[in-house]
Amino acid sequence: MPNEVPTAQSADVDFAALLHNEQARLQAQLTELGFADHGSGLSYDSNFADSSQVTAERGEAERLATELREALDEVDAALKRLEDGTYGICEVCGKPIGEARLEAKPAARRCIVDAAKH
Ligand SMILES: [Zn+2]
Repeated sequence: MPNEVPTAQSADVDFAALLHNEQARLQAQLTELGFADHGSGLSYDSNFADSSQVTAERGEAERLATELREALDEVDAALKRLEDGTYGICEVCGKPIGEARLEAKPAARRCIVDAAKH
């Protein structure tokens, strides 16, 4: 396999593909909200009228966009760990994160035990 990514575990799941899917999904949601791709700060559509109703909606959209950006950052960090060969290792205890957990949450930084502590 020319595309094989070295990971700490003998995973037969393509986590790079999972992460790229997740990245595309999050970016599509941000675009849908009217926010530019992450990294360029908040650039809301300036044609938006300034009524209180719209302000409330914008506040909600910004809150959601912030969450989406944070999730994107997590995905970016996970892709970087994939490159570094540290993907799938719990950043707290150093043990491998379960494959099932990574499939459900490919950007996870911690094993399920350590994640539950926070
Ligand atoms: Zn752990």
